[in-house]
Amino acid sequence: MTTKPAFDLIFRNAATRSSAAPVDIGVSDGRIAAIAPQLACETVEIDLGGRLALPGFVDTHIHLDKACLLGRCGHDHKSLGDAIRAVSAMKRDFTVEDVYDRGARVIERAIVAGTTRMRTHVEIDPRIGLRSLTAVKALKRDYAWALDLSLCVFPQEGLNNDPGAEELLIAALRDGGEVIGGCPYVDTDPNAHIARIFDLAQEFDVDVDLHLDFDLDPSWWHMEEVCRQTERRNYHGRVTIGHATKLSALPPDRLKAATARLAASGVAVTVLPATDLYLMGRDATHNVPRGLTMAHRLVADGVMCSVATNNVQNPFTPFGDASLVRMANLYANAAHAGINEFDACLDLVTDLPARLMNLKDYGIAVGNPADIVVLDTDSGPNVIAELPDVLMGFKRGRKVFERQRPTLFRP
Ligand SMILES: [Zn+2]
Repeated sequence: MTTKPAFDLIFRNAATRSSAAPVDIGVSDGRIAAIAPQLACETVEIDLGGRLALPGFVDTHIHLDKACLLGRCGHDHKSLGDAIRAVSAMKRDFTVEDVYDRGARVIERAIVAGTTRMRTHVEIDPRIGLRSLTAVKALKRDYAWALDLSLCVFPQEGLNNDPGAEELLIAALRDGGEVIGGCPYVDTDPNAHIARIFDLAQEFDVDVDLHLDFDLDPSWWHMEEVCRQTERRNYHGRVTIGHATKLSALPPDRLKAATARLAASGVAVTVLPATDLYLMGRDATHNVPRGLTMAHRLVADGVMCSVATNNVQNPFTPFGDASLVRMANLYANAAHAGINEFDACLDLVTDLPARLMNLKDYGIAVGNPADIVVLDTDSGPNVIAELPDVLMGFKRGRKVFERQRPTLFRP
């Protein structure tokens, strides 16, 4: 009689962010069953040779439904308004198949870049109806073998100013929407927009993830109203604001007050470096502002934060590869992060976004799903410094991709 070995798979000599020396990681039935310096067991082995194992990257904010649109619109988009109008015009012609194909392209790039969890924003309004939602639901199902996809449904073009949008949003929440978003700055009544989004969030018991603001004018904002509603509804830890570029325009004393307000009300901030750097500061003729909120500094002051992809190859951001290694490096570079802050920058695309999404089973720890990606480097800070290749990825213990290290052919 043969007995099943204690592990189905062992990763040997894995560097992890939490252990000083390489460890072995034993996997059983798709879960991490043991982590120790040397696991004794005869089973399938993968020797990582001291390379870094991470539990995968977590992208809290991406738009699969409007990705890969370059080539469909004929001109350069120089402002946020231009970009929204350009996508709005194209959106009417989106079909389920079209959204699915473009979304699949981005998901596959994200998978081979080491992303294992993702929250996509999905536009819901009378132009697109529920077609994008239908496509993204299919993507969630079809790529579940490699990536956990969560759907945040939101009215990109407003509620009070867009008749029919609310009914569609409710339909989306009844049929696949797992988080609700909003976009108060495009609404004719921003405070009513925010209140209605929170009403629906409570009614459907879902978290909130808002596109809060997207300019560098600190003379007005909706952050205070979001914090107020979060406290009123007892939604501490369940609310995120995206972009929040205004925070980058605040002088130190006002930033300190805003940071304390966000920390106290439990409102998280997602910074989207590629889009923020591309669209902000367009009015400047010289000394162009970065328009990038300093997420890792907010984290040091008690605010939950993530850095995420946002748009890929569309009028909002005409480049993108869905790589969070690249995004964290771009953020660190633009945010003046020093070497001793690189670990904090890596946190912004791993542990912190997992907590922001209230994921309870993320991380290289016994009992969690064996979601493991292997990078061609040996430490967390070097991920930011070197932009290493992501060599292989596993979802629930099953290998989902592998990339060969380059070979040099010396003369
Ligand atoms: Zn966005």
